[in-house]
Amino acid sequence: MQIQKTGEPIRVRADHGIEVPDHPRIPVIEGDGVGADITPVMCKVVDHAVSQAYGGSRALAWHPVAAGGGHRRACPEANPLPEETLEILKREVVSIKGPLETPVGGGVRSLNVAIRQALDLYACVRPIRYFPGVVSPVRHPEDVDLVVFRENTEDIYMGIEWPMGSDEAQRLQRFLNTELGVAPLRFPSTTAFGIKPVSREGSQRLIAKAIQYAIDADRRSVTLVHKGNIMKYTEGAFCQWGYALAESAFGARRQAGQRGLWITNPVTGREIHIRDMIADNFLQQVLLDPAQFDVIATLNLNGDYFSDALAAQVGGIGIAPGANIGDGTAVFEATHGTAPDIAGQDAANPCSMLLSAEMMLRYIGFHEAADLVLAGVRGALAHGFWTPDLIRAAQRAQGHAQAEPAVTLAETGFALHPVGTRGMGEAVILYMDVPGALG
Ligand code: NAD
Repeated sequence: MQIQKTGEPIRVRADHGIEVPDHPRIPVIEGDGVGADITPVMCKVVDHAVSQAYGGSRALAWHPVAAGGGHRRACPEANPLPEETLEILKREVVSIKGPLETPVGGGVRSLNVAIRQALDLYACVRPIRYFPGVVSPVRHPEDVDLVVFRENTEDIYMGIEWPMGSDEAQRLQRFLNTELGVAPLRFPSTTAFGIKPVSREGSQRLIAKAIQYAIDADRRSVTLVHKGNIMKYTEGAFCQWGYALAESAFGARRQAGQRGLWITNPVTGREIHIRDMIADNFLQQVLLDPAQFDVIATLNLNGDYFSDALAAQVGGIGIAPGANIGDGTAVFEATHGTAPDIAGQDAANPCSMLLSAEMMLRYIGFHEAADLVLAGVRGALAHGFWTPDLIRAAQRAQGHAQAEPAVTLAETGFALHPVGTRGMGEAVILYMDVPGALG
């Protein structure tokens, strides 16, 4: 990684927009496990794209910062998430990170959750789209093009829970019975408890981001996905607060005989349908008819399940990017974890992190560089430059045994070129520079 301490800071305006200099400082956390494989490749590919796009008038000044188990192994007394790291991520506004392992046993529950909560990065944004050539287990993966906005700070993820038999669990049970009139539980001595806080402010700021994205990206619909038929005051309220916000902040209105609400996109004039769907029905519909979905807004736990399940429809978590965004501040990261089973073997797919970097470049307004990264990934995948995870997924989808190498690229018919992490990075750079490459 090219270490630069130079560069200028990104600033957040009062309206939560950002001001980006030509040489912004970008903190980067290498990450644990495969982080050491994919993060240097990401920096190299991004540097190439920025240089190709702007010929030196713009560049990113990477600012490596410490976090995670790798950092702690180098310095055993160190906090895996130093306060200084959180301060740098806050101060520099936009950053990117590799995956971090969650320490087993006491201490911080999850470094990733801790970063999201400390920086109040309330929207987890995960685009799920198909790349030509990639073999998928579904018939029409090209119909999958959606963006999940997952609430990132509330819900059962807040970790307010007590184990079976604890004093707290017993006190809570007494309180529920005597103060709130809850009927005695079926198994009172062996019940554990978890609390699911969901607020109007927390829900509406997430849904506002999803609707604003639909406007900016000229999308056709925003679907509020919830389990409100069962959890009426949390998941059900999420849906109602969403509709109320669409009316009060975006001028949404009803249309005779139609479910949901409609917003006229103030930029393009196209109609955006705001609707809702129960979570189990959504999971069925998105498998059967993904083309009907566009932008999804949902609660924390639902969003976690959905994004991995949907990513599997288009080639797996090796090509699924993500971002955690607050009021200006943003941390971009691959959806997957540290993949300890393949760490250090030059076998990890770097595309998830490359596509997270593409989202980051767009977020800071470096659109031309973002387009080059996207073109490079599309071109490399379409021309058969595949890491082992993609080959395995294709073999499974095409019904081959694990040992059989033969795989037919979907649609393109090109030959397969098995590559490792670094080879994938080289292929992405190659296809950035090939005008008109398939992808
Ligand atoms: P994982 O995502 O690390 O791995 C699941 C499977 O996917 C493994 O078979 C792995 O080899 C494969 N895989 C993951 N990324 C890949 C890539 N880029 N290329 C090819 N294959 C890839 O999930 P896990 O094993 O449940 O978690 C391992 C660790 O990662 C845990 O400590 C967990 O807490 C942490 N984690 C971190 C994040 C994050 O940093 N945002 C997210 C999830 C899990």
